Amino acid sequence: MPTSVVNINVHGIGSATRTLDPGEEQVWVSVEQFEQVLDAAVGRDDVRITFDDGNASDLEIGLPRLLERGLKAHFFVLAGEFGVPGRLDRDGVRELLEAGMSVGSHGWAHRDWRRITDAEAEQEMVDAPRVIGELTGKPVTTVAIPFGSYDRIVLNRLRKAGMRLVYTSDGGKARPDDWLQARYSLHRDIDAEWVRTTFAGKASPAVQARRIVARRVKRLRGAP
Ligand SMILES: [Zn+2]
Repeated sequence: MPTSVVNINVHGIGSATRTLDPGEEQVWVSVEQFEQVLDAAVGRDDVRITFDDGNASDLEIGLPRLLERGLKAHFFVLAGEFGVPGRLDRDGVRELLEAGMSVGSHGWAHRDWRRITDAEAEQEMVDAPRVIGELTGKPVTTVAIPFGSYDRIVLNRLRKAGMRLVYTSDGGKARPDDWLQARYSLHRDIDAEWVRTTFAGKASPAVQARRIVARRVKRLRGAP
């Protein structure tokens, strides 16, 4: 097993087929950008590819290009959005599974988990994995946090809900077995240079230090 992994996070690819939320277009990439990233991932056992938000482009654009390259990915879908135009429906999720992909939870309604009630937390972190698990046929214990927004309370809730692997959007490399997994999000400005440095895992010492401090703050914030 590699000592560190580069986790990549994909949101949307190509032209969006639904109205995007404000700012969401920042994390959509072109087919060419997406292919460039996949090409760099071929033959790398230290690279994990994830998809958030359950967009229709996961299936229509993402899946065939993964299969062409013999790559696998983990798709984090929204239990409350199946069949909404522009999103995956249940058949789409089944197709991903049949193609050998993994499916985890991105919650229910894409809420900010730092700003939800106890009842909403139950729906986001307990009901959503259960509903997705009914599709996958096995318990869902892998989760990606919407907006990468977490604090101590969010992490405690996820632990209590039995989640075994939690993906953030913190950036930076991760150790393969860590409970909390940092990811690099693709965004509309990525280019060949971004792909090269990200896959080399080479941030400058200053950037690395900033990331470590930011993660520590997020884990601890929310204390009474
Ligand atoms: Zn999301």
